Amino acid sequence: MNVFLDVILESIVPRTCMSCGRELRYEGHIAGACTICVTGWGVFEPGETTKTLFNERFYGAWCALGFRLGNGASRAMIHKCKYGGEPGRVVELGRWMASRWPAPTGGAVLVPIPVHWRRKLQRGYNQAERFAVGLGEVWAVEVDGGGLVRLAHGESLTGASREGREEALKKTYGIRALDGCEEQDMRPVVLVDDVLTTGATLRACREVYEKRGREVVGAVVLALA
Ligand SMILES: [Zn+2]
Repeated sequence: MNVFLDVILESIVPRTCMSCGRELRYEGHIAGACTICVTGWGVFEPGETTKTLFNERFYGAWCALGFRLGNGASRAMIHKCKYGGEPGRVVELGRWMASRWPAPTGGAVLVPIPVHWRRKLQRGYNQAERFAVGLGEVWAVEVDGGGLVRLAHGESLTGASREGREEALKKTYGIRALDGCEEQDMRPVVLVDDVLTTGATLRACREVYEKRGREVVGAVVLALA
C-alpha cells in the first residue's frame, strides 16, 4: 500500500471503522475495521494449536485459519464479504492473512471453493476467489480458479441431516472439462474458503481431486464458525 497516498486521501475524506464508526488512521486497520474491533475478532495465531483445531474439521498437512466467527464484529465482516458487494475488502483480508501465515510450499496452487454460477451472478463475485487473490498476491502463489466448479445450486441442503448433506455435497462439485479433455494440471492443491463449519465442503472438494489422483495438501479459511 502507498501509505503516503493514504495519508493524503484520508485527510480529505476520513474513513471510519465499518464496525464501530471510529475514525480510521492511515495504518493499523484491516479491511476497514479498526484495531480495537479486530481484537474482538478472536484472531488465530499461526502454529500447531490452530492447526489442531482446524484438523478437527478438515485434516490437512497444511492449514491456515483467520479468526473466529463470533456474534459481533467478525460476523459483520464476513457478512460484508459475502453480501456487501465489496470484493476489494475480501482481497484485503487475503493480503492480511497471508502476511500472518507462512506460504504453502511444494509448488502448490490455491483453489478457491467455487459458488454456483447463478449465485456469482447475483453477488457479482465469489468471495472465496477474491480471498484467494489477496493470499496469492502476498505469497506469490498461483490461484487456479478454472478447474473446480459447483454443479448444483445447494439451497436445499440446509434442512438435510448431516449424513444427507455430506452425500449431497459429493455430487455438488466437479472438474470442468476444457475443450473436451480434463485439465492435466497435477500440482498439489490448497483449498481456499471463507467460512469453515463442518468441513464437509472441503472434504467433498478434496474427493473430486483425489479421484483424479491429484493431491490436496490443506486449506486456508478466513473464519471458523
Ligand atoms: Zn472499530
